[in-house]
Amino acid sequence: MVENLAIIGSGPAGYTAGLYAARANLEPILFEGLESGGQLMLTTDVENYPGFKDGILGPELMKEFKTQAEKFGTKIHPLTVTSVKECTEGFELVTSKDSYLSKSVIISSGASAKWLGVEGENRLQGYGVSACATCDGFFFKNKVVTVVGGGDSAMEEALFLTKFAEKVYIIHRRDSFRASAIMQERVMGHKKIEVLWNKEIGEIRGEGSVSSVELKDISNTDNIELETDAVFVAIGHTPNVDFLNGLLELDEKGYIKTGFTTPTSTSKEGIFAAGDVADSVYRQAVTAAGTGCQAAMDVERWLES
Ligand code: NAP
Repeated sequence: MVENLAIIGSGPAGYTAGLYAARANLEPILFEGLESGGQLMLTTDVENYPGFKDGILGPELMKEFKTQAEKFGTKIHPLTVTSVKECTEGFELVTSKDSYLSKSVIISSGASAKWLGVEGENRLQGYGVSACATCDGFFFKNKVVTVVGGGDSAMEEALFLTKFAEKVYIIHRRDSFRASAIMQERVMGHKKIEVLWNKEIGEIRGEGSVSSVELKDISNTDNIELETDAVFVAIGHTPNVDFLNGLLELDEKGYIKTGFTTPTSTSKEGIFAAGDVADSVYRQAVTAAGTGCQAAMDVERWLES
């Protein structure tokens, strides 16, 4: 059987593409991947998705996205696509279980958290080292925790952790944050949060669980040891493109290049991209949903022509 459209990824972009394609009678199939719901599953309050004036929890928002896509006929498979190849029917998608054939593909596989790559980080993952305060913050009631990064994710993680921890350090490698003004204000005004500027973590230490970090000052050679029970790494994301094995052109940051013939078209005819996997600039749930809609409409027109 050859499908009209296969969508890879289950974040706001993927589900919106499913919704629009299903309503256009394309009977799309959607591969959820390992992390069903994408990055919003790791978020608490989403306050900037239009339509929810009091905010909504990330996982709840994604449940709504999924239910709405399914309601109109998107067939959702809890499978991970491991490769995409060209074939006479269009494309072959190999998953962890079966292979599927499809005339067109929308890639909306999102992006994954980046790690520092310092000693101790790997060894202590799950023992105090985490990239998700929402998942692991609860374990650090009345403890001292450290967040690394200066963007909105780091601010959000730090603020969330104040609900549990007694003290939250933010380690940032520069002397100013890149986070939005409102998030910076909330962080700077919080009595539990202390920012340590111009610092980098050299090593995460601990036997069995995190006990401290080695902090390097970037303006001098002074290293200090900071006692902490946890390290939450919030330094950005890497686009999930490995399974494409070079099939598509990427930009200099590793994101899928789009805009060849239509806004969501890629370097390969019949493959379209939407959401964070093709967006190193905006990376918002609402922009991802917007490009998911565009991709479905681009596919519909492409299949017709
Ligand atoms: P980001 O904006 O790219 O920020 C990453 C931060 O980590 C930067 O401050 C960067 O430092 C630092 N960093 C990167 N590599 C590092 C390393 N190896 N060691 C130490 N520090 C490192 O990523 P993000 O915070 O995940 O945000 C991504 C996008 O999502 C943004 O557009 C953001 O606005 C959005 N977002 C929005 C919300 C919200 O509105 N509620 C929440 C989360 C994310 P430099 O500043 O020195 O480069």
